[in-house]
Amino acid sequence: MTELEKQKIIKLRNGGYGYIRIAQTLGMSENTVKSFCRRNSLCGENKSAVKIKDSGCRCRQCGKKITQTAGRKPKVFCSDSCRIAYWTANQDKVVRRTAVEFECPVCHEKFKDYPRNNRKYCSRECYIKRRYGDEP
Ligand SMILES: [Zn+2]
Ligand SMILES: [Zn+2]
Repeated sequence: MTELEKQKIIKLRNGGYGYIRIAQTLGMSENTVKSFCRRNSLCGENKSAVKIKDSGCRCRQCGKKITQTAGRKPKVFCSDSCRIAYWTANQDKVVRRTAVEFECPVCHEKFKDYPRNNRKYCSRECYIKRRYGDEP
């Protein structure tokens, strides 16, 4: 999908077009349009033309309904304070949930990292020590 196509979808969506109409207008598949709109929480304003769940147009933090401005980037939060509150709360969660304490098998130094990184050593020096047998 090109940047221009994305812009067009956003414009049409904000103008109240349904997925099928946008797909037909731009000659794209309905699924492409649909998933793009979902990812970008494009709600559309014209309720008679667009049947979407309310939840997409509500503030992620407080659940208040958001009025989207046509032609503008769709809003996810009703206000700046809600946006900040949401990200502060979630950042905290992410860090607590995924960062794990590991012990370096070479120098027994403790370090924190994410399990998906598969890191075993605290530093490159320790990795090299273990790798090339520079350890007693
Ligand atoms: Zn809010
Ligand atoms: Zn180490």
